[in-house]
Parts: sequence; structure tokens; C-alpha cells
Amino acid sequence: MKDTLRHAGKRKQLVTTLMKKGIKDTSVLAAIEKIPRHLFMDSGFEDHAYQDKAFPIAADQTISQPYTVAFQSELLQIKNGDNVLEIGTGSGYQTAVLCELGAKTYSIERQKELFKKTKLFLSKLGYRPKHLSFGDGYKGLEEHAPYNAIIVTAGAPYVPKPLLSQLKINGRLVIPVGEKVQIMTLFVRKSEKQFEKREFGEFKFVPLLENKS
Ligand code: SAH
Repeated sequence: MKDTLRHAGKRKQLVTTLMKKGIKDTSVLAAIEKIPRHLFMDSGFEDHAYQDKAFPIAADQTISQPYTVAFQSELLQIKNGDNVLEIGTGSGYQTAVLCELGAKTYSIERQKELFKKTKLFLSKLGYRPKHLSFGDGYKGLEEHAPYNAIIVTAGAPYVPKPLLSQLKINGRLVIPVGEKVQIMTLFVRKSEKQFEKREFGEFKFVPLLENKS
């Protein structure tokens, strides 16, 4: 599959849709306008790539809805050179957005098949995250902490403590919390022990898997 002017045109329309839905961050919108989302999905589904919808990928997982990606990315308030951790690499689309935003990007995926596939794919596409790791996102990634921002892209039944403790002061954790539906939640670390919490309504994610061997 290729990226063509027709795809670029569809991305422009998608960006317009996201703006209408309330996304304002121009660097997030620019990233979405640039990244060929159709290449992150199996060929044959490319007509769905620029609709504002989640879509199935390998291993029973989904590529998040563009609005959700934009909404979470906006909440992260990433600046060029920030240290950013993503939990749930999946298709790598959100990883690519973080790279476009200038983040030093680390991402963790729990499923080996996806981890391998996406690692290869992102490098083919020219994206250079600092590190992609195969492991359990509940633990975060201590060796590269602290982070300016952490984004969780699967539904967490509770907020894993290591993610809070791996934030810098003023660092931001964006995490959908809940079992059946999730409340998008932002934690800002105000001091060593204090976190400010804000909630942003309901979203629906695949579950953050625990104790998977
Ligand atoms: N950011 C992805 C969203 C993928 S869906 C994208 O843009 O495509 C969520 C992903 O989280 C899935 O790939 C799933 O395998 C992964 N995941 C689930 N539990 C996890 C865990 N405990 N640690 C790391 N990744 C996990």
C-alpha cells in the first residue's frame, strides 16, 4: 500500500472533523494530518482508515479512534524533547503521533505478535521511538523514568502506582480508568506525594491486561 494525494485529502477531512469535535492543539492536528493511518491497518480496510472510528488490528486489539488519540494527545501537552511513555503500542499509530510531537518516545506492548510486527513496521515507515519494549505496562518502565508524560491506551481497572511514581514533578498521566467503560483521567504530579486529578468523560477501550504470561 502507498500513501497518495487521495489519502492526504481524506486526512484533511478527518482533521476538520476532529476540530469540529473540539480538538484545538495545532501540533496534534498537524500530526494526524501527516501520518498515513491507513498503513497501520490491514490492507483491504483502507477505506475505513480516515473515518473517526476505532478498528480491529491483529491479536484481537484495536487501533484507537482518531478522536480518542487526539483527545489523549492534547491532554499530554507534549513539548519537543519531552520524555514520554506509552502503555499499549498496538498498531503503533499513537506512537507515531508522539514521535511527530517531538517526544523521546518509549512504548510497551504486552502481546509479542503485535510488539514484533509494529516494531518492524514503525522503522519501515521511518519512525524512531527511543525504545519499544515487550512487557507489562502495569509496571511502567523504570529504567527510563521519570517521564514528562505517560499515556495509557487500554482501559485500566485501576491506576497502577508505578505509573504515578514514574512521573516528573508537573508530569502528566493520561489514563482511561474503569472496567466496562472508562473515564478519561488526568493526573498531574504537583510534588513528590501530591497529584491533581481531573476527569474528562466516558470512553471505551480494550482492557489493560494483567498477569498475562
Ligand atoms: N496505542 C494503540 C492502541 C492499541 S489497543 C494504537 O494506537 O493502535 C491497546 C493495546 O494495549 C493493545 O495492543 C494491547 O495488547 C496492549 N496492552 C494490553 N494490556 C497491556 C499491558 N498490561 N501492558 C502493555 N500493553 C498492553
